[in-house]
Amino acid sequence: MSSIYLHIPFCKQACHYCNFHFSTSLKYKAEMVKAMLQELELRQDYLIDKELDSIYFGGGTPSLLTEGELMQFFEQIEKRFTIKPDAEITLEANPDDLTKEKVSALRRTPVNRLSIGVQSFFEEDLRFFNRAHSASEARASLEDALAAGFDGLTIDLIYGSPTTSDAHWEENLNITFGYDIPHVSCYALTVEERTALFHFIQTGKAPPVDEARAARQFERLVAAMRSQGYLQYEISNFARPGHFAVHNSSYWKGEPYLGLGPSAHSYNGESRQWNVANNAKYLRAFQDLPGFKKQVSPSTGLFEIEYLSPDDRYNEYVMTGLRTIWGVELLRLRQMGKTYEQHFLQHIQSFIDAGQAEREGETVRLTDAGKFLADGIAAAVFTYR
Ligand code: SF4
Repeated sequence: MSSIYLHIPFCKQACHYCNFHFSTSLKYKAEMVKAMLQELELRQDYLIDKELDSIYFGGGTPSLLTEGELMQFFEQIEKRFTIKPDAEITLEANPDDLTKEKVSALRRTPVNRLSIGVQSFFEEDLRFFNRAHSASEARASLEDALAAGFDGLTIDLIYGSPTTSDAHWEENLNITFGYDIPHVSCYALTVEERTALFHFIQTGKAPPVDEARAARQFERLVAAMRSQGYLQYEISNFARPGHFAVHNSSYWKGEPYLGLGPSAHSYNGESRQWNVANNAKYLRAFQDLPGFKKQVSPSTGLFEIEYLSPDDRYNEYVMTGLRTIWGVELLRLRQMGKTYEQHFLQHIQSFIDAGQAEREGETVRLTDAGKFLADGIAAAVFTYR
């Protein structure tokens, strides 16, 4: 399996909780597209398997790309790779960008799945998050996408915000179920350093995030999704059977992917590398390349690289395994080395005893009680040598 991820590093405005890489100045969008096309050309041999199962436009806000810009990416990708006929081609879109005209334009491109950043259907939450869209735009974007025939649809929702009462959260879920969309991602509001939200909480302008509220709303989320026939195939991701996201699943299963654009990560089975998270430096790295003949290397300042040790592989596997429906397979740990299996079994036992994890044959998974604590449980079974 092979995938391409394209990071479009522009947003209309900064959401208060966001620590992704983006710029609110769109001045260099055309140059950025050109540079990313160059990166695609330079790094076309990064993926050994040239048949793509998924292409994902993330960001930032990829719905700021014009139809023409998107088609430039597809033309370049098709020159160098084969896009499988059933490939999943996702574009993250914000509701305020998804006018009827925009949705029609996107239907003319190979994009077959929209990931819409709804976050909430309540104005109070959207203002607290500093989202660029309104509650009515959230609904309209979904209706227009469905009417245009985008049946591969997913939305993002945020729970645990000080503005989201339990009743509002229940209503957000009910509105979502009313649209009968096949895939939903729900994230707890987290307070990252160097965000406006962090600053507001530090200075008393916003109340701190209430962990108990987040835990309660997560519990309600899991139960409601299950009652509606969604499978929780990863802690934050719910899908109807047959609608697991190819992009996310291949990432969690350790399949290779090529990431293009500032801050984008790539993985080829041996190493991870990540591009510089700075638009100006990224653009400069390409301007410095004479005629694209030079190989892209860390010396150009474009990216950093990390070769994975056996311990890194073990830690990554248990981290993602515990978060997903596939769990941690003991056979796979054995293949990594007997000591890894022993280490894992020894450290997971207390969580099994506490009812937060369970062993079924050769697989260990988290229970509902353990899912909200997944990061802490993973940290407890990591190896730190
Ligand atoms: S639109 Fe998305 S990437 Fe941009 S600031 Fe908001 S959350 Fe972050």
